[in-house]
Amino acid sequence: MKVGFIGVGNMGGPMCRNIIRNTNHEVIVFDLSPDAVKTCTDLGASASPSVADLAGRCDVVITSLPLPRVVEDVTLGTGGIAENAKPGTTYIDLSTNSPATAKKVAAGMAAKGIHMLEAPVSGGTSRATDGTIVIMVGGDAAVFEQNLPLLKSFSGEVIHLGDIGFGSTAKLINNMLAFCNAAAAAEALMIGKRSGIDLKKLDAVIRNASGMSSAYGNMENKTLAGDFKPTFALDLAHKDLRLALEMADELGVPGMIGPQVMNLMRMARGMGLGSSDSASVVRVYETALGEDIRA
Ligand code: NAD
Repeated sequence: MKVGFIGVGNMGGPMCRNIIRNTNHEVIVFDLSPDAVKTCTDLGASASPSVADLAGRCDVVITSLPLPRVVEDVTLGTGGIAENAKPGTTYIDLSTNSPATAKKVAAGMAAKGIHMLEAPVSGGTSRATDGTIVIMVGGDAAVFEQNLPLLKSFSGEVIHLGDIGFGSTAKLINNMLAFCNAAAAAEALMIGKRSGIDLKKLDAVIRNASGMSSAYGNMENKTLAGDFKPTFALDLAHKDLRLALEMADELGVPGMIGPQVMNLMRMARGMGLGSSDSASVVRVYETALGEDIRA
């Protein structure tokens, strides 16, 4: 089978490389960044010159792209997947979108006889790399079953949530929770720093106690090392939280915690940290208080 992969950045890159390593499919990649493409062609994939060329040649087309408007452009825009893929092709989107975007793209694909699964992922670059990423899928059950072996080739857990839209719904709820946990972790670490407690010992307690979460672990690793190189850019986290809060608003759920975290992200982006890692929300505390949290 020919598998096309568009968008081989921080997340798409390692997932694509796991498909190359773990299956016998012919893999064809396209990305605006030649360096990103090279990380996959070095492992045996071939490079395509355009979305249109790739879409016309593949049985399955996968995308992992930064923003909903980029996904809409690459799928429904001129020279996009819907215009160029053959009827019967399956399109799988691993990006994080709103349920409304997923439904709009799926309708555009269906009009051309293209099947679609929305399949956002969670676990960050480390789990994308070691092949244990969680995939939450929305779409037709038969299309899901047909593509399960491909999804499993780069994932540890694949969950079918129901119709198109429910994959994005699960992903946005999960990320809202993770970002709230991360913001609480940033605040907690600053309290620890100011208290004068040994931060390594505090960390040993939290990792073995009820305050532990994967968001705390990530925040602590990056903060104490002072390493905010983006594995998940703040701009993308802000996009996810914005979509989650829009969904909450549409559903009439009052926001008590999420909007506070959104403001923290707005301040961090206002400080020019949008392209830094999402853990850099802690820099708002550090800058306001004139004190870095380093072990
Ligand atoms: P990224 O910016 O590292 O990668 C995106 C890639 O898409 C880049 O290589 C970029 O060159 C390419 N690209 C952009 N526009 C393109 C276009 N028009 N045509 C072809 N290629 C194009 O972003 P990422 O962190 O890999 O995130 C990708 C998606 O995965 C986002 O929707 C993000 O929200 C989601 N996500 C990210 C993480 C994470 O930890 N980084 C975790 C879960 C989900």
